[in-house]
Amino acid sequence: MTAASAPNTASQRSSDALARELAAADAHCRARGAQLTALRREVLELLLLREGSAKAYDLQDDMRARHGRVAPTTVYRALEFLIEQELVHRVDAINAFVVCNGEHVHHHAMMLVCAQCGQVTEWHDEEAFAALGKRLRKSVAGFHVGSVEIKGLCTNCTEAQAG
Ligand SMILES: [Zn+2]
Ligand SMILES: [Zn+2]
Repeated sequence: MTAASAPNTASQRSSDALARELAAADAHCRARGAQLTALRREVLELLLLREGSAKAYDLQDDMRARHGRVAPTTVYRALEFLIEQELVHRVDAINAFVVCNGEHVHHHAMMLVCAQCGQVTEWHDEEAFAALGKRLRKSVAGFHVGSVEIKGLCTNCTEAQAG
């Protein structure tokens, strides 16, 4: 219940910021020879509007609210495209999706997932990622680290618990 009442004005995007992000995503795709179609762009927009993470069926609901009936595969395919373009990450720990906060080039994002409110923070630290991979290879021969998700408590939930 603390999650629902937590103020999120600081992270609220203005419509200007939203338009800028979508224009940047469009340019990013064009530069890679890919096409951000109206549908893919809309799924990205809905994910941005969700602030933080969203499940595929949340986005499907949002699409349905705008357009009526929408096939589930429509949203999934758009998400797959956005992941391929490094614009979106999948967060397996909570079966959700987040907009990449990095440069949209291939990188090893580590996802910090709040076990209480589900907030996801993308953490970039190539050094830490490489060190983890190196240590793992030492103890578990042949294991290759693909992605990292860390569950814990976010700042808000930690503060709420302390208070
Ligand atoms: Zn990223
Ligand atoms: Zn939290």
